[in-house]
Amino acid sequence: MATNRRTWLKQSGLALAGLTLLHNRLPALPPNEVVYKPWDGPIRLSSNENPYGPSASARKAMADAIAGSNRYPWGNTDSLLNKIAANYGLQNENVLLGAGSSDILGLVAHYASLQKGHAIAAHPSFRSWWGAAEKCGLPIVKVPLTEDKKHDLPTMMDKVNNQTRLVYVCNPNNPTGTVLPVADLKAFVTEVSKTTLVMLDEAYTEYSDEPSLANMVANNKNLIVVKTFSKIYGLAGARIGYALAHADTINQLADLLPWANAGVSAVSLAAASASLDDKGFVNLSKTNNAKAKAHTCQTFQSLNIPYIPSHTNFIYYSAANFNGDLNAMLKEHQVTGTGIIEENGRWTRITVGTMEEMQQFSKVLKQIWK
Ligand code: PLP
Repeated sequence: MATNRRTWLKQSGLALAGLTLLHNRLPALPPNEVVYKPWDGPIRLSSNENPYGPSASARKAMADAIAGSNRYPWGNTDSLLNKIAANYGLQNENVLLGAGSSDILGLVAHYASLQKGHAIAAHPSFRSWWGAAEKCGLPIVKVPLTEDKKHDLPTMMDKVNNQTRLVYVCNPNNPTGTVLPVADLKAFVTEVSKTTLVMLDEAYTEYSDEPSLANMVANNKNLIVVKTFSKIYGLAGARIGYALAHADTINQLADLLPWANAGVSAVSLAAASASLDDKGFVNLSKTNNAKAKAHTCQTFQSLNIPYIPSHTNFIYYSAANFNGDLNAMLKEHQVTGTGIIEENGRWTRITVGTMEEMQQFSKVLKQIWK
């Protein structure tokens, strides 16, 4: 028995030494300029992911955080709350973390559904949380976008009545990539939030040149701004997002959770914190996205394909003059796009990948568009 233990100890000691040696020999992390492409197979242009992420600094922070994963990450949670709050001139009591912003969208819908009534949203817009809201007894009143694919704010305002519990605005809007003039949006939020909770989804603001309205939450209990690390920060797989709201509203939301801010792992907290510090990576993502987007728009122009100018990392375009099932054809050519979103005009969406990926997309489009 004693010999066996000694042998085991010796062997595991050797294994540990081997692992340490191996760890020291791991190649250095590549710099940001190197495209990190963990995805094999067809070019994935369906989910508005950032093809350059996570940044090298986020990957290093994640690797370093693994060893501390036996402990609850309270200290790191607090420092990330502080860092996020400081970015918007807010306090940590104004921030609530979620495992992706989808978590927050669902939580806000749950909160709004505690009182019988309905929610109002533009259509088409980001709808992943609509099913959950409807199951909680919060039906969605859908207001069609304007001709130029923007939120129809006056009609949305008209629909608000004493049964309205929530108004959702996605700016920039997914799937159309459009933004609202900031003065119009501010006026709308100010007016509607006098009586109703407003949820403003800013998942793509960093790709646009539009300001965040986050600083409005300090003095407005009826405004919740929702943001994510999944897009410009390239952390879709790490699952981390957050709500910004008045401290009282954050408390009301947190009361619906078993444990506030506990849905985010030590590894994801580290990634998010490092990403906020890495302005170089954000700039790189934005610049590269703009170039690859311009290239893609040129392709649409050359094929006479109608598209909506985009303030995001995706483009809404019309397959009205395409003969056949465009998405199936793209798939056949190793490009994963999105199905038809609006039948009227056969509007669909493509995510902007790397220049290389978009050149391939253009090549395929030119081949199949007849
Ligand atoms: N909001 C918008 C507008 C989105 O497009 C997405 C994802 O595509 C999300 C929220 C959810 O992102 P996540 O849950 O990864 O933070």
